[in-house]
Amino acid sequence: MTTDETTAPAAASQTTAVDLTTFDGLLAAITDPHGREILDPATGALVGRTREGSVADIDAAVAAAAAAQPAWASRPVEERNDLLNKAADAIEASAEALAELLSREQGKPLNGPNARFEVGACAAWLRANAAFVLEPEVLVDEEGTHAELTYAPVGVVGAVGPWNWPMMISVWQFAPALKMGNTVVLKPSEYTPLSVQALVAVVNQVLPADVLTVVPGDGKVGAALTDHDEVDKIMFTGSTKTGQAIMRSAADSLARLTLELGGNDAGIVLEDADPKAIAADLFWGAFINTGQTCAAMKRLYVPEALYDQVCEALVEVAGQIPMGVGLEEENVLGPLQNKQQYDIVARLVQAAKDGGARVLLGGDPREDQPGYFYPTTIVADIDNDNALVAEEQFGPVLPIVRYTDLNQAIVWANELEVGLGSSVWGTDLEECKRVAARLEAGSTWINKHGAIDPRVPFGGVKKSGYGLEFGLEGLKQVSVPHVISW
Ligand code: NAD
Repeated sequence: MTTDETTAPAAASQTTAVDLTTFDGLLAAITDPHGREILDPATGALVGRTREGSVADIDAAVAAAAAAQPAWASRPVEERNDLLNKAADAIEASAEALAELLSREQGKPLNGPNARFEVGACAAWLRANAAFVLEPEVLVDEEGTHAELTYAPVGVVGAVGPWNWPMMISVWQFAPALKMGNTVVLKPSEYTPLSVQALVAVVNQVLPADVLTVVPGDGKVGAALTDHDEVDKIMFTGSTKTGQAIMRSAADSLARLTLELGGNDAGIVLEDADPKAIAADLFWGAFINTGQTCAAMKRLYVPEALYDQVCEALVEVAGQIPMGVGLEEENVLGPLQNKQQYDIVARLVQAAKDGGARVLLGGDPREDQPGYFYPTTIVADIDNDNALVAEEQFGPVLPIVRYTDLNQAIVWANELEVGLGSSVWGTDLEECKRVAARLEAGSTWINKHGAIDPRVPFGGVKKSGYGLEFGLEGLKQVSVPHVISW
């Protein structure tokens, strides 16, 4: 690690004496007084200043992680599990401060399935990973022939993340990797660097030095990590385009890859669904984190017979959900995280209007207030090939497409290049399962959407990803297989 001033806070985050259970203490531990300003997307107010890492910082962090890895891997797994549980304790002790920072930087409200929920999920994922037991798999057990598949650490994991669920996705990446004896270098999104640095500062109160480090910076810094020869495994969560660039560059190092990429999830309502009963779950399936969720429902297919009832029920629920500044407790929807995202959403809703779609709720950008607030928007009578349906819009918007033939709805659901999540809504479970089996997606939920569980593998098919996270499958993907025979 170079010793210039801009790299100092990373080291400080491991040894800091400030109180990390308070918001001010947390910010003091990670702030670089000369760093780049991070502004609250709800108000435009200054949140803090982040240091910007460099390619040299990546080199130093990877070298330190490589040096620390053998000793970390040689500890009994019970010790590593114990440290993951202690890391969860530390997160819980700092939970309110972490949630406030996350809310200010990312924009998501404290309440609802948002900032406090995300911090809670960080602790939950650490504890779940600590509890998993990955046994060797007995392949052959016969007189004279025995073979077992065991799982060894990969080495150094380079993890690059997005801005929508920055803390939680970092934990998804580092918790299984650390458990399996790897060391990890994180590169958070340039939009949410403070949240991830704060989380790592908290966790590093209990972890040994250099086992988990964070180097903030832009895509170039990310590329320095994913191109690095000494990175043995890349965990990337972000857009399909960046995932493709990473896969190309990994051809040289032959680093193993887990890619969690973009989605455009379809929900299909069946004719026997009860519109009023499903409306709230449909709403949250689409609008969680103000729609800025990879596996949120982005397009809903509804049969002609139920179309008006589903539209009405959704508008009724949506109209009651308050959106506003995240630190105000009554709000459960927030702003978009950045201007670029706001512009994408505004452009796609305009495309829907230009195509003759009917806006049932919202639909007009709010220019009357600071912050990137886009109103909760529900769009009906829209063609399936409209850009609002066909592109990942990543905002608080749901287009509802009418269908008369279920087979046609399934074709529409499957025809895009992405396949992350999907959902089927109806009262006959067996029929829901039959439709689910025909959907091309890594996960299909029935009568819910986007529900995740640390024990249940999650990942995408087609251009939504490569590999799985969570559960025992997730542990295998941060390991290398080692067959032992005798
Ligand atoms: P992005 O691809 O623009 O950026 C993601 C990260 O990659 C950032 O940290 C960025 O700095 C870094 N990066 C950019 N160029 C790079 C390069 N050439 N090499 C290495 N790193 C590079 O994505 P985003 O806008 O931050 O996130 C939104 C996208 O993420 C959406 O498409 C969403 O669907 C997807 N996402 C997927 C999942 C999932 O689990 N599948 C979860 C959350 C978000």
